[in-house]
Amino acid sequence: MKLAENIWLLEASRAKGRAPGFHCYLVRDNQGLTLIDTSLPGRGEDILAEIRELGFLPEDLHRIFLTHTDMDHIGNARMLQEQTSCQVYVSAEENAYLTGERARLPQKAEMFRDFVPPKVEIYPEKLEEYQVIPAPGHTAGHVCILYQDCLFAGDCCSTESGSVTGPRADMTEDMEKAIQSLQKVSLYSFGSWCPCHGMPKNHREL
Ligand SMILES: [Zn+2]
Repeated sequence: MKLAENIWLLEASRAKGRAPGFHCYLVRDNQGLTLIDTSLPGRGEDILAEIRELGFLPEDLHRIFLTHTDMDHIGNARMLQEQTSCQVYVSAEENAYLTGERARLPQKAEMFRDFVPPKVEIYPEKLEEYQVIPAPGHTAGHVCILYQDCLFAGDCCSTESGSVTGPRADMTEDMEKAIQSLQKVSLYSFGSWCPCHGMPKNHREL
């Protein structure tokens, strides 16, 4: 689904007879293709197929920005990195989950038992064209990614109920902090919330 010139919500991350609402987004920027989040494991081939359908080559994917490292966001990052040699970026606080320095919520820990993470880089302080906004709460190092008129919100918010709400409480480390983060990012100037769970929603409707 094309959201704007050079910005797509990938259908591969949507239903196709499987659990819907684990969205990832593709941007064609000055450097090539950037993927924001990677959806649930097992959807990597579909993501690559869709990149081809859009007229690009898998090798055009030069980086992945992860909003955080929960399984429904990092799920295909290693597979895509192996296929395309892209770089994968996370915040330093999220990297601590991957190295084991920080513990995940018990209900999330089990699915990471045999998980082999991709090789990651930490977000640099400044990124051309993008703004990485710390939005902790759902996880300790969650970030939102602002690009042009889109706020790629990860799990900072959800629009599943038709309005912009906070993340699922039972999967969130610190709900109070998560709501503070949501309030903080809502003050930025952008046109569309682009969440992982739920469809993009006009910011001005808030
Ligand atoms: Zn999620």
